[in-house]
Parts: sequence; C-alpha cells; structure tokens
Amino acid sequence: IGVGEMKSMSAAKVEVASVKTTDEIIAMTGDFVMNTYGRLPLSLVRGEGTRVWDAEGREYLDFVSGIAVNGLGHCHPAVVEAIRRQAGTLIHCSNLYYIESQARLAKILVENSALDRVFFCNSGAEANEAAIKLARKWGKQNYGGERYVVITARQSFHGRTLATLTATAQEKYQEGFEPLPIGFRYVPFNDLEAMDRAMTSDVCAVLLEPVQGEGGVNLCDSGYLKGVRRLCDQRGALLILDEIQTGLGRTGKLFAHQHFGVEPDILTIAKSLGGGVPIGAMLAREKVASAFTPGSHASTFGGNPLATAAALAAMEALLGEGLVEHAARMGALLMEELRGLQDRHAVIRQVRGLGLMVGVELGKEGLGGEVVAACQRKGVLVNSVHGNVIRLLPPLIVEEHEIKRVVAVFGETLSELGM
Ligand code: PLP
Repeated sequence: IGVGEMKSMSAAKVEVASVKTTDEIIAMTGDFVMNTYGRLPLSLVRGEGTRVWDAEGREYLDFVSGIAVNGLGHCHPAVVEAIRRQAGTLIHCSNLYYIESQARLAKILVENSALDRVFFCNSGAEANEAAIKLARKWGKQNYGGERYVVITARQSFHGRTLATLTATAQEKYQEGFEPLPIGFRYVPFNDLEAMDRAMTSDVCAVLLEPVQGEGGVNLCDSGYLKGVRRLCDQRGALLILDEIQTGLGRTGKLFAHQHFGVEPDILTIAKSLGGGVPIGAMLAREKVASAFTPGSHASTFGGNPLATAAALAAMEALLGEGLVEHAARMGALLMEELRGLQDRHAVIRQVRGLGLMVGVELGKEGLGGEVVAACQRKGVLVNSVHGNVIRLLPPLIVEEHEIKRVVAVFGETLSELGM
C-alpha cells in the first residue's frame, strides 16, 4: 500500500489547540501550507470593530479590513449572533432543497439594486465565473454561437480561476498558466474609442470594475461608464460590473455604479457580503438571468444556510445602521486629510479614491512595502499595490479620530523615511 494510505491508517494526529507565538505560526505555515502568498510577518488572532490583535497581544488599527471584507468591522455582534444561531440549527444543506435565508438574502439584494435575480457562490472569482458563463449562454441564445467574447480593461482584476484570470488583463497573473481560455479581449481602461473599436459583433459582454482595486485604485472617468453602457446597448452586448471590492457601501453608495449614473445587466459581489464569512453572488436582470435554467450552473456550498444567515445579518446591519452614508462622510474626511498630507510630503504624487476606497500613489517605486512595514510597527495596518500605491480600505464603521490617527502615522512614517 502507498505511503498516503499508511498515513491515513495510522492513528489520527490531532493537535489540541495551544497558543502559538507568531514565530511558531510562521514556521508551521512554512512547513505545511502551499507557498502561494507573500505574507507579512504578522499573525492576527482576534478582532473587534476597527481593531485587531496579533499572537503576542499587540493591537493594530485595521485599515486593510481583510482586503475590503470586514466592512462592518471585526466580529460585528449581529453577524456573530446570526452565525452562532445558525451553526446550532443547520449549517449546511444542499440546493436540492429550498433555503429560507438564501431566499431572504436574495430578496434584500434585489430590492436594493436594479437587478432581478441572484445566484449564490462562495467567492469573487466564482461570481465572475458565473457572470461570464451567463453572458456566453445569453449570447448564444440571442445571437447564435458567434457571440462569446468578453471585453475587459487593462489593469483589471477579476479573480484567479482560469477564466477570471484570463479576464484579468494583467500578464503577471497569467504567466505560466497558458494556454488560457479563448474569448477575452483587452482594452485600455477609460478609453472609450478603444472600447468602440473592440466591440465587434462577436462580443457578448463588457466586464469592468467601476474603481479598479488591485490595479491601483483607478477610477472610471466621468462619462466613461455611461459611454460603455451606450455602446453595449447599441451593439447588443451586456454590461457586467464587478463590484466585488467596490460594492456594498465601500465607496459611499451601496454600489459604486450609482456614482456614475449607469445600471449593469449583471453585477458581481463577494468580499464584504458575508460580514467575514465566504460568500459571493452574481445578480442579473430578468431578461439575462432567464438564460440559466435548472442544471446550467451550480455550487455545492453556494448560498448555504450558514453563509446566507451571516450575510443576511450583515446586510441588515449595513442598511439599518446607516453605514453607507457614514462611509461617504468618513471617505470625504480621509481624502481631505490625505490631501493635506500631500502638501507637506512631495513624495505623494496623487491621492485618489471614492468613499473609503483610497489609494495614495507615491513618487518612488517600491516604497510601498517600506511604508506598510513602518506603519505596522506603529500599530496601523495598511496595504500596498503595484509597489508604490498605498491602499486604504478601513471598515465602514471607522470614526473620525481613527482616520486622523492613521493619517498622522502615515505622515510620521514618510518623514522618518526622509520623504
Ligand atoms: N474582483 C475584484 C474586483 C477583486 O478585487 C477580487 C479580489 O480581490 C476578485 C474579483 C476575486 O475575488 P476572490 O478573491 O474572492 O475570488
């Protein structure tokens, strides 16, 4: 018999939970976890509101929010209570049966958007994968087999499955995984003429982020999304908006596209939807959603009782506590404070963003990592993308004094680095 089988036949090794130090956690990760993440030397073990604590009990103000997941902050009491209650009632059952919390969550999402139906899955990539499949099926049904191309923008990010990685128009994510699936076409972001030229009769959809997150916090120019919407309508293509990072209040409106006066045919969300629990969703207008019929698409865990009970509590908290409006106010303050900092630090090339999704572009390549590490030593967590853009994604519950503290720490850090 093989080694694997012998291993499974020997007595199961179950470690009794013991408190580990950061160094021990790092060593154990290095020994057993596949090496796919460039991690910081920090292990978070507890969170409450805007704050988190590491394995040694050090406290941090969290302006990363699990990359836009912890919109309600850590361990929002209503989400914790919903998870506790559901965990003791029914954690999982199949989509062979009807699930009340799934139906109720779909109802809230539909009632608060311009879309009509929801498909639930478990992550952002899966939501985009579902959107691409739906667009192709819709294209096939309405125009025959030749309309399957999805146009995406340079510097976009749509996920890591093979299709969403191909939709992600950044070579660094694709390298080594070729051959990539066919049916994707790339255009420069914010270039309406390029979009016009690319939108030939083989295009079933355009997939865009209203604000590119991983690409460096790049906003759609005013008029761009409206122009793309017009082109889609003229050519008979769908507009898919990926609001996985921008969605659910992050930009100061429930959905970022509401800033731009357009409505998508398909909308994808994930990240903060479950208040920290993995869940994704793909929403579509009725005329598009109807291209899916029983058997078209599925997910074992998609919309299961635990995830949808958590998401339902998270949505109710988001809407019931006025957090979207709060995010708009706090976002304006954060931008104002950072622009003040820009006057004193020449290294800040640009401050850009929408609501509580903010990027600070530094005029020195590679400085991002140093700034992130220095802020962490001062008890503030921020993130950097593209080596020189500091990305700030605080929880939507963030307060004025916390914004002021983070901006002060950021300024101090730049001064210490001689910038
Ligand atoms: N789309 C956007 C805009 C994202 O920011 C992300 C993740 O960062 C994804 C898709 C992929 O989401 P997930 O990591 O949940 O698959």
